Amino acid sequence: MASIPESRIHGFNQKEWNPEGDFVLYWMVAARRSRWNFALDRAIEQAQRLQKPLVIFEALRCGYDWASDRHHRFVMDGMVDQAKAFAQTPATYVAYVEREHGEGRGLLEALSQRSCGVITDLFPAFFLPRMLRAVAPRLAVPLEAIDSNGLLPLRAADRVFTTAYSFRRFLHKTLSPFLLEWPSSSPWEGVTLPRLQSFPAEIRKKWPVFVGAEFVGDAVDISRLPIDHRVSAVKETQGGEQAAQQQMQGFLKFRLRRYAEERNEPEEEVASGFSPYLHFGHLSTHEVFSKIVEREGWEPHRLGKPTGQRGGWWGMSEVAEAFLDELVTWREIGFNMAFLDEHYEEYASLPGWAQETLEQHRSDPRSWEYTLKQFEQAQTHDPLWNAAQVQLVQEGKIHNYLRMLWGKKILEWSKSPEDALAVMIELNNKYALDGRDPNSYSGIFWVLGRYDRAWGPERPIFGKVRYMSSENTARKVQVKDYIARYTP
Ligand SMILES: Cc1cc2nc3c(=O)[nH]c(=O)nc-3n(C[C@H](O)[C@H](O)[C@H](O)COP(=O)(O)OP(=O)(O)OC[C@H]3O[C@@H](n4cnc5c(N)ncnc54)[C@H](O)[C@@H]3O)c2cc1C
Repeated sequence: MASIPESRIHGFNQKEWNPEGDFVLYWMVAARRSRWNFALDRAIEQAQRLQKPLVIFEALRCGYDWASDRHHRFVMDGMVDQAKAFAQTPATYVAYVEREHGEGRGLLEALSQRSCGVITDLFPAFFLPRMLRAVAPRLAVPLEAIDSNGLLPLRAADRVFTTAYSFRRFLHKTLSPFLLEWPSSSPWEGVTLPRLQSFPAEIRKKWPVFVGAEFVGDAVDISRLPIDHRVSAVKETQGGEQAAQQQMQGFLKFRLRRYAEERNEPEEEVASGFSPYLHFGHLSTHEVFSKIVEREGWEPHRLGKPTGQRGGWWGMSEVAEAFLDELVTWREIGFNMAFLDEHYEEYASLPGWAQETLEQHRSDPRSWEYTLKQFEQAQTHDPLWNAAQVQLVQEGKIHNYLRMLWGKKILEWSKSPEDALAVMIELNNKYALDGRDPNSYSGIFWVLGRYDRAWGPERPIFGKVRYMSSENTARKVQVKDYIARYTP
């Protein structure tokens, strides 16, 4: 197994590896998968170097914002898959679902005290960066966070990009060497490691952890956890690596060829549906990319000259390029922002031109003005908007094209742009399975002008921010059946 690239390793403290520890600990917080994972590769590498067992610890707290049956179920589906997958390896998988607020406090420290060092995942959004910064000084051993987020290591860019064009141009100039550095698709090949003889009994006594293959579907009763039970699990969208694999096979086989032309049609399910799996780390961008490479029979020498244009650089078919522009350019520009700008969630992070024009139109009369509750309950005058909101509440997603319209109308029907931002963040992160991601903020802030330019003619409320209307949308794409399907 090859060493993982330095560009992926972020040291969070200056502690020394403890060769006397009982095991190497991989604290899995974002790349929740058993393959295609630089952090897992790094953890295996360290365990081999020290000839120690590897313990993989995946925990789910209950006190994070918007914790609900929906997100918990999705993550726990993944934990069931992990328990099965790691049972086939020399590693010891340990799953933990917190049953009451604060119950898990001290568990990571207790595990780390017995370890040689801790490897974890780097994820640039939500509470995770804060959590790692808080934990690092408390540990007596090293904490290394590994970046498995995208094709471009987060560290490879030292500035934030304001347009997709400028980021794409940067990618065209910078990405090619990183396309040769992949996490392992079969990380255990040729690896021998000592196994953990027994899991520390005093830890088991204090915290109800599940060791090895113990974590099964009904191991934890979600209905008893102190989380929001009104946001129910989405039965049709199962979480986990296996479901992610099925989603990927279906997309590559049946939908990718229609992607470039039909992705915007709300009545067609042509898009990949990968975003929740990418968000929770059940699926890796590298794996998806490798499948596209295989399908296209692609080789790096086909890369073109840097242009910043959407198509043509990869030297692949039109559909593959259209898809990669979303998966790589649009997905990773959001990770870049969240990683480098700690204010990425704040209104003040909008480009100056957008703040200025929204300010000039702050007092414009609104024909309709709704509260968070009215939005949440899909009680607007607009059937198409209501349908999108119903889809979000029921299925944890909104069709991509309508998601843009959904946001634009919240801006138009809110008292102020700041209120609109708060409503979008609340509804998106509460209901969307892919919420609380760097891309949640890319999408929401795009509605208000991020990554966009000024547009004319200047309009009420929006000023120069790009405008969208339900009428135009209905003219451009088929929505009749969509509205009928999601009538509140
Ligand atoms: C108001 C608003 C809110 C949004 N909230 C989220 C969110 O919470 N989480 C989220 O992942 N995306 C969000 N997006 C971006 C986009 O809508 C989704 O990524 C996409 O619809 C997911 O569906 P898919 O996986 O089928 O996408 P596909 O079209 O199949 O694209 C493949 C992947 O590319 C990435 N991608 C595609 N479109 C975009 C985009 N516009 N911006 C950034 N990355 C993109 C995603 O990772 C996606 O899974 C939001 C967009 C808007 C306008």
